[in-house]
Amino acid sequence: MTDRKDLHDETRLVHSGRHPEEHAGAVNPPVYHVSTVLFPSVAALDAAVRDRLEPKLYYGRYGTPTSFALEEAIAALEGGSKCVATSSGLAAICATLCAFLKAGDHLLMVDSVYAPTRKFCDGVLRNFGVETTYYDPSLGSAIKDLMRPNTRVVFVESPGSLTFEVQDVPAIAAAAHAGGALVVMDNTWGTPLFFKPFAHGVDVSVQAATKYVVGHADAMLGTVTVASEAHWQAVKNTVLAFGYSAGAQECYLGLRGLRTLSVRLERHQSNGLALAEWLAGRPEVARVLHPALPGDPGHALWKRDFLGACGLFGVELRPASAQAVASMLDGLELFGMGFSWGGYESLILPTGDSIHRTAIRWRAAGPMLRLHVGLENVEDLKTDLAAGFARLTA
Ligand SMILES: *Cc1c(COP(=O)(O)O)cnc(C)c1O
Repeated sequence: MTDRKDLHDETRLVHSGRHPEEHAGAVNPPVYHVSTVLFPSVAALDAAVRDRLEPKLYYGRYGTPTSFALEEAIAALEGGSKCVATSSGLAAICATLCAFLKAGDHLLMVDSVYAPTRKFCDGVLRNFGVETTYYDPSLGSAIKDLMRPNTRVVFVESPGSLTFEVQDVPAIAAAAHAGGALVVMDNTWGTPLFFKPFAHGVDVSVQAATKYVVGHADAMLGTVTVASEAHWQAVKNTVLAFGYSAGAQECYLGLRGLRTLSVRLERHQSNGLALAEWLAGRPEVARVLHPALPGDPGHALWKRDFLGACGLFGVELRPASAQAVASMLDGLELFGMGFSWGGYESLILPTGDSIHRTAIRWRAAGPMLRLHVGLENVEDLKTDLAAGFARLTA
């Protein structure tokens, strides 16, 4: 089923990774609660050791039929060949970087990257002898000037965390490949539906499945998808070396979320766009950072490369005091304040203090917010925000 190229994404979402015949006919694979797997003979034990990277039960950390099902489905949807599930999105990123970098290597990292990824580069990777150079997210093929003989990985995240710059991934990939480097992408915003990494030159695609794949704010999960067997082995062995394996219950929740991803994303997209357009017309708002809005600096690239937009975007308010912003946010009834995103519920977060840049300066005249627009009725969300604006300007 998974390898039928004629099927559309909505159909793949429903059917990929499902093998009811292996689970007594149950529609969904059960959660395998397992650490120890028993073998009936020395010969069977020896064979299991030899085949331990196969999708078969060997030892809990190596995966279970629940994680194999999730990996099969995600790989099919992203357009890769194989996937490794991990215990969180950050674990997926760190395992990938460690799989392809060693002491003496150089990493090109986008300046608008998710902050904990930056922290990993500046801390752990630096201590282990890997040098990171941060680059301007607006660089396309000009990234070739930053390539060094020892540049092994070029990391992209598009749109960028908090600031939503869209990158020219195919141009970056061409320059990276010409210099002998791999392209790793954090594809969490694009999801397996709205950005097809392998069709745009990416070699390794990482997802914080915690966000839209799980989709209900109730599990931590990551995935790493690759196109080649060699890359898969490198990632799988690193995940095993660190013990970053995903829990079976989390994989089950990821699979369950995946089945409804297309209908959820459709609503996240339409609600997000409606709210972004409404916000762009508000006098309290200086600008909206949403690549699907025609005026956005990243709009042309988004339109060329993406198949849709999720419900996450940024807002820069006109100058206002911290106290006024707090009274706006504190009184919101439908928008929750908290980290992460991609669940069914709307969220809002002040982000100005969290934007760190070293390659280019980030300039905002007023307070920055990040919105995640959930599945609520969008008129109710506008009413909630309008009351917030009234408190902001009171
Ligand atoms: C949340 C997030 C991550 C990390 O995922 P966790 O599951 O929270 O570890 C990585 N990248 C992006 C873009 C994210 O938003």
